[in-house]
Amino acid sequence: MPDDRRLISDLTLARATVDRAAEYRGDEEWLRNRRIDPNSKVLQVTQGAVLVRGDSTLAFMDAPDVAPDVPLTFLGLENDVAYFSMAGLTDGDLLYTEGAFWSDLRAIGSTLSDRDAGLVVSAIALDNWSRTHVRCPQCGEPTLMAEAGWTRTCPADGTSHFPRTDPAIIVLVIDRQDRALLGRQSRWEPGWMSTLAGFVESGESAEAALRREVLEEAGIRIGGEETDIAYLGSQPWPFPNSLMLGYHAWTDDVDAVPDGDEIVELRWYSRDEMRQACESGDLLLPPQVSIARKLIERWYGSALPGNWGR
Ligand SMILES: [Zn+2]
Repeated sequence: MPDDRRLISDLTLARATVDRAAEYRGDEEWLRNRRIDPNSKVLQVTQGAVLVRGDSTLAFMDAPDVAPDVPLTFLGLENDVAYFSMAGLTDGDLLYTEGAFWSDLRAIGSTLSDRDAGLVVSAIALDNWSRTHVRCPQCGEPTLMAEAGWTRTCPADGTSHFPRTDPAIIVLVIDRQDRALLGRQSRWEPGWMSTLAGFVESGESAEAALRREVLEEAGIRIGGEETDIAYLGSQPWPFPNSLMLGYHAWTDDVDAVPDGDEIVELRWYSRDEMRQACESGDLLLPPQVSIARKLIERWYGSALPGNWGR
């Protein structure tokens, strides 16, 4: 099967249709008017979960129903409707909506619409950042929300602090016989396998991080040709603040040795072996919401059965 190096177009959490309309984040009057506009919608998220209804739609509140002193984050505009979220709330602050329940983004992500997937990913990433950056890293004073939730400022020294995104590489390693390498992390049940992944370190390029992680975790050297690494797309992974950069990479090595720490099992799969293992239930792949799944299915050539227990 020829290598398909086009970007992957159906990454579940990379879907987003809302205009972020960043020009309004500092416009206090515009924001005040939108908060009292009955068409404006507010999303509640907390710790990676979002409030949804039984039909997998988001349980929005109408903005005027939220007390004026509750800080809201402005997520963007679509069809002249303004979307907000509440960030950094504690359990006691949350306003329960009748008939709605909390769902983990990993469970609900692939059933949301494009618009809602984009809103939720931003809202959860900003919520994770706001709740862990309540104090100034320079002087320790409590920070204040600014720019409609997209900045925190320190009243003592005037510094501004911005939401952080941590880049990580995620890679399906392929050998010269066109077999794919999957590994099991030490904290996973036997049978759960996925691609290799790791954070990009300070001062490191994504490609260098990919080569380093594959060598560290599997003892495999990625080939030195320009064609031995193919970038296939990225998706936000707000658990808590990552951006996953997805690759296929090719190697001449076949002796994969798990590092025994992060990775405890490694296995090469031909397409037939992978399909049979998925069908028998011996191999459980990460869920559709993950970029790992898309990298595996891009190599395989079509959808595969079986999910981790979600
Ligand atoms: Zn400060």
